[in-house]
Amino acid sequence: MDPNSITIGVATLGKIPSTVPKVIAAHISGYYDLTARVLVPRKQPAYAFDERRLQYNAGIILDTLNAVSFKGCKKVLGVLNVDIFIPIFKHVFGEARQGGRIAIISLYRLGQHQNGSAVSRSDLYSRAAKVALHELGHLFNLHHCDNGNCLMHFSGALDELDTLSFTLCRYCKAYLQDALKTLASKPAGN
Ligand SMILES: [Zn+2]
Ligand SMILES: [Zn+2]
Repeated sequence: MDPNSITIGVATLGKIPSTVPKVIAAHISGYYDLTARVLVPRKQPAYAFDERRLQYNAGIILDTLNAVSFKGCKKVLGVLNVDIFIPIFKHVFGEARQGGRIAIISLYRLGQHQNGSAVSRSDLYSRAAKVALHELGHLFNLHHCDNGNCLMHFSGALDELDTLSFTLCRYCKAYLQDALKTLASKPAGN
């Protein structure tokens, strides 16, 4: 099987402008050369709300989505607009488990500049797409990269995210190609 036939699903969870998943899907096809499909919108994950932190627990959302079959999709990216966290961080832009099947990102923190003013729609889209490509990288088992010009470089703050590249360094790119070949040789739907 040809790696290009690997399908990535993009599903919104909650009220998200319909342009957002389309933009993300276009970036997945454009930068990773994979098929990306926008899936049926899903509900906001009320089950993952943490009463104490007043945020949504990213791990619970990943576990819940992992139990869904998402037929025909090798990997699925969930797009939210609520504040998500993992226990060791105050908040995260996105979350994925290394080599896993599901990644999530949230627009919640992406719509503002560091000073609190709103970013343009196109800047919001490009930030969302960047976080999506980075988290997808983790699903293909890419780790954080020391190269500051690589998409897999860690960014914890918006200014770091804005300087992050859309492209992988040559090492990460080679690693990704290997991961895609391995994935393509496995039966569909897994
Ligand atoms: Zn990361
Ligand atoms: Zn790299």
